[in-house]
Amino acid sequence: MGEGVRVGADESTLARSDQRAGSETVSVGVLFSEGSRQVFVARAVAEGRIYRFKGSRGDVEWMTGEAYLAVNGAASILRRLGASVDILAEETCSVASWARYRTIICPNACRLEPDTVRVLESWMRGGGKLVVSGETDLSGTAPAPLRFDWSLFEYAGSVLQGHRRASGAPDDHFHLDKLAWQVREQLRDWGCELDAESPWGDHQNVLVLRHDTDSSTDRTYLDYEVEHEVPATYAILRDRNRAMYLSAIAPHPFLEASFHYTSRRRLGLDRLLLVGKGIDRQVQKANQLGIPSATLHKHGHRFYYPETIEALDYVYGSSPEVVGMGTMARCQNLRYSGDRSMADSYTIQPPNVSVPFWFPFHLVMPRVAGHKVLRGWDCSHFMEPTPGLVNAIFRNASMLPYGVYMLGFHPAHARSDTFRLGGNFPWFRYAVEEAQKRGWLIANYRTVCEALS
Ligand SMILES: [Zn+2]
Repeated sequence: MGEGVRVGADESTLARSDQRAGSETVSVGVLFSEGSRQVFVARAVAEGRIYRFKGSRGDVEWMTGEAYLAVNGAASILRRLGASVDILAEETCSVASWARYRTIICPNACRLEPDTVRVLESWMRGGGKLVVSGETDLSGTAPAPLRFDWSLFEYAGSVLQGHRRASGAPDDHFHLDKLAWQVREQLRDWGCELDAESPWGDHQNVLVLRHDTDSSTDRTYLDYEVEHEVPATYAILRDRNRAMYLSAIAPHPFLEASFHYTSRRRLGLDRLLLVGKGIDRQVQKANQLGIPSATLHKHGHRFYYPETIEALDYVYGSSPEVVGMGTMARCQNLRYSGDRSMADSYTIQPPNVSVPFWFPFHLVMPRVAGHKVLRGWDCSHFMEPTPGLVNAIFRNASMLPYGVYMLGFHPAHARSDTFRLGGNFPWFRYAVEEAQKRGWLIANYRTVCEALS
């Protein structure tokens, strides 16, 4: 936890969740199998499903289609359910080291080492519950594993990062949350209870307020948050208003100043901002101007899949202070932009969300040369949500606790008629007051990311 970070009314809440992170209780292991990943790589090469681009450190070969994103998908779904999760590697497998897991999930494990299979069989005979999904070479084991009959974790991992578009309706804002709920119910039917526990201490859900400053100096939200000590994150552009925001936020540790990097220039030139070292260059300039970069949030709607993910990984490498990002806030996903046809691209229009999942998640690089999980967290986002949408969030939360909901309210629209006559301040206030009534934790994004890290 950062010094002086305020986490809402109960400052001890997240400290307790830190203690939990260091405890020995781990309810689920998710197995990563390099041999199985190699099968996916070989297939992608054979089928011509490799996308090549120039990344921050040179040429990158990236799998398209099925890309072994299932491990990250499973881990993300399980975290959403309040489980503590370990990623297991085959090299370190032994009956003794896996005895601490009651459930192990093997998504798309289609080529396991013989030793791994032996250890899993022995662990199952000791009462362990093995769950497989998608492809598996574990169907012949004794006892037999429990089985999801489709690649739901590969699907979830793909949707989380724009590798594929969600198959639900565009306004199905809770699509992956519903999938998580189904996973929980199915695991229960199989007798796999997850030892779920709120990562947020006494609170069941978290509200994160994000304000993208976007050339406005309207202090309506700022004044309200200072007066009521409501935590929030300000995503600050490198523009002439930055000094006003930085000095207004500095005295209030519950407010976070963060960097709002841009994706917006003339079409064609904006690509340079978001690929290779483009985001890193923006972060270095922001640091020189005194804009903090513990969290980074994208301005504008463009997103280049997969180049932007590779560019974010470079930022995590060069800037150790970064703990999280809000990349997927708005989304015009320009996929595989080497393909001039744009057939693969799509745009998500607000209030629809680009990633219908309400818990921070990791992004992954499914490169031929090696699988890499980005260090920090990313998060979805509701933009300028109406009270009706906020009520839908509360309904979702009553179905599935432990969520993190980021709501974006631009100072520019607090008092202007853009979305609502008189401005959106009443919508913001409704969200804050209803969350308080329900006992939600209101925290800035940095606090959330630090607690999860
Ligand atoms: Zn913006």
